[in-house]
Amino acid sequence: CGIVGYIGTENTKEILLKGLEKLEYRGYDSAGVAIVNDAGVQVFKEKGRIASLRDAVDPAVDGTVGIGHTRWATHGAPSQLNAHPHQSATKRYTLVHNGVIENYQQLQRELLSDVELVSSTDTEVVVQLVERFAKETATTEEAFRQVLKKLEGSYAIALVDNADPETVYAAKNKSPLLIGVSDDANVVASDALAMLNVTDTFLELMDGEIAVVTREAATIKNLDGEALEREPYVAEVDA
Ligand code: GLU
Repeated sequence: CGIVGYIGTENTKEILLKGLEKLEYRGYDSAGVAIVNDAGVQVFKEKGRIASLRDAVDPAVDGTVGIGHTRWATHGAPSQLNAHPHQSATKRYTLVHNGVIENYQQLQRELLSDVELVSSTDTEVVVQLVERFAKETATTEEAFRQVLKKLEGSYAIALVDNADPETVYAAKNKSPLLIGVSDDANVVASDALAMLNVTDTFLELMDGEIAVVTREAATIKNLDGEALEREPYVAEVDA
């Protein structure tokens, strides 16, 4: 299982699919991508191999922002419905997640009792909560940070907001996630291998931090929103 995300100048579709193929070694039962363009956020997901996902992605779809996922099901059977990305009720938010949200049932009971969930995953609770919190906070970033403070368990998450498609948000706890940086694109990935075609320069994201990633910059913050310094390093991997 693994996640990827891209914001830059190239067509993200092929970059995401190739990135997911590089993560195949981690094991998975389904895969999906969300591609953001002027028409909104387009989600494609399939049970089975990345080759099946590749066939399912509309060849005409084009966009320079996107996120992708390979799933190793922990909550909810492997199926197209339970495959990621997952979306919030109004489809404003689209999210991919690796890991296990241990308190998802409690969060659902306490904060989402009026929301009808579409999937049987722990993950969907996270994206529905972001939408819920965004109604009460000034920004998506703040809503995301508040949701993260409530989560127990492990996660690598990438999130996009249809209302502000020029940012990819990422966060991690006990699951790996790196931020890749370059002059014309910034990326997120579970493993540097997935994004070596784009960059070899990465920022390590630590547990309990978020990354706010735009085309121009990747800013790492703690969950109180304070920006943190992080030195980039060059990945030494044979591509
Ligand atoms: N717990 C999530 C699910 O079952 C994510 C699994 C994963 O890490 O791929 O959908």
